[in-house]
Amino acid sequence: MCYMSAALLTTVANEIMTVVTRFAPSPTGFLHLGGAHTALFNWLYARHHGGKFLLRVEDTDRARSTDEAVDAILDGLKWLGLDWDGDVISQFSRVERHAEVAEQLVAAGAAYRCYCTPEELAEMRENAKAEGRPMRYDGRWRDRDPSEAPAGVSPTIRLKAPQEGETVIADLIQGTVRVANDQMDDMVLLRGDGTPTYMLAVVVDDHDMDVTHALRGDDHLTNAFRQTQIYNALGWEPPIFAHMPLMHGPDGKKLSKRHGAVAVHLYRDMGFLPEAMRNYLLRLSWGHGDDEIISDAQAIEWFDFVDVVRSPARFDVAKLNNLNGHYIRQADDKRLTDLIMPQIETILEGEIASESEARILAGMPNLKERAKTIIELAESAVFYARSRPMPLTPKAEKILDETARQNLAKLRNEYASHSEWTSGTLEELARSFAEREELKLGKVAQPIRAALTGTNVSPPIFSVMEVLGQEETVARLDDVLGQN
Ligand code: GLU
Repeated sequence: MCYMSAALLTTVANEIMTVVTRFAPSPTGFLHLGGAHTALFNWLYARHHGGKFLLRVEDTDRARSTDEAVDAILDGLKWLGLDWDGDVISQFSRVERHAEVAEQLVAAGAAYRCYCTPEELAEMRENAKAEGRPMRYDGRWRDRDPSEAPAGVSPTIRLKAPQEGETVIADLIQGTVRVANDQMDDMVLLRGDGTPTYMLAVVVDDHDMDVTHALRGDDHLTNAFRQTQIYNALGWEPPIFAHMPLMHGPDGKKLSKRHGAVAVHLYRDMGFLPEAMRNYLLRLSWGHGDDEIISDAQAIEWFDFVDVVRSPARFDVAKLNNLNGHYIRQADDKRLTDLIMPQIETILEGEIASESEARILAGMPNLKERAKTIIELAESAVFYARSRPMPLTPKAEKILDETARQNLAKLRNEYASHSEWTSGTLEELARSFAEREELKLGKVAQPIRAALTGTNVSPPIFSVMEVLGQEETVARLDDVLGQN
């Protein structure tokens, strides 16, 4: 038999159909990094092709699925900016349709009712265990007449799976993968209580949603074989599969809580920007030359499966930090100000100077130069929002020694009568003062910084003075000099 190569298959496929991808999370917790990674790639592929990105909540496991978890996943996707098309589809709402398809397969002779009792199945499991092989249903009802059905057993519906030959998948990431059909048993499609199994539900939903590309974690690769068998039995065209590498921690083990935060919302709370997350998750297992910084527009233009790396991606928070720093520097000043104001209010317990927001906005071009996270940005901006007098850190105290205070007193008078309040002229004044007093500029600037910010690190101090304005600057100097 001859199979089309995966690349050719996509080319052909993309020419004849609208690309439809989907993200199909099971709502049992929060949106995890791995889920966000999968969702992002589905979103990019759909956007790249001008297709659709659908969202299906796989909530058939009623005991484990909660509304809170659904909301948490939707919130995570919204924060990440991964907008989906149309309504969110609930898999559970489609159970009748799943059962209908199972019955359709029975009617066509491609599936059958299995009346095995739980005891019989337990026995099969025990035997398999004793012989050290995986449990496989032995097909005892495959050809048996339903008239032999025992009373009181609600039958399951099993697929009459092919027993010879092989099932082949042309996976866009994994390449061509195949499994011998005698390695797979007749899987259950519909349980005795009429509920669908995961395998059936996914196939029916993907088909009914016109999904053209099923892109998901490679832990689902073995499921793809079983799902392909169901598609074949139904005479439906399977979607094109693409199984992407799972995310690992820095130690090379599957990413888990041991490695730290795995839920996307925690990264928001730690002060990461969604665009930095997107860029980071994209680069984890996809590349475009040596490019590290990739905008959304570029990602959408360039994204294709051929560039997806097959080996597991290692989560590295240092890289994420660097990207975040980059996106913070690029971000709009007003947006950043809005993001940090609530945090500053928390830090200062509501004791906020009234001009804070205007000052922070004006100071933002310099503040954002050095922050790696929104939290760091907020911390670095607190001095603009504090009501006087500034508390001094021990380092600031040390800078403000006797000599420094004497110089500061003279400078204070010069600044109090200075007329042009711009960073350039403020610096000029400090420079000529330093020359006259035969001091290095740092000996003059550091005490000013200590007095105005209460710390020993801040954005360029003459810009800080410009932002604070003359009145506040002189008042803060006076606080330190004990003149208020
Ligand atoms: N619900 C599955 C999961 O959360 C995804 C199934 C699929 O994408 O086909 O892992």
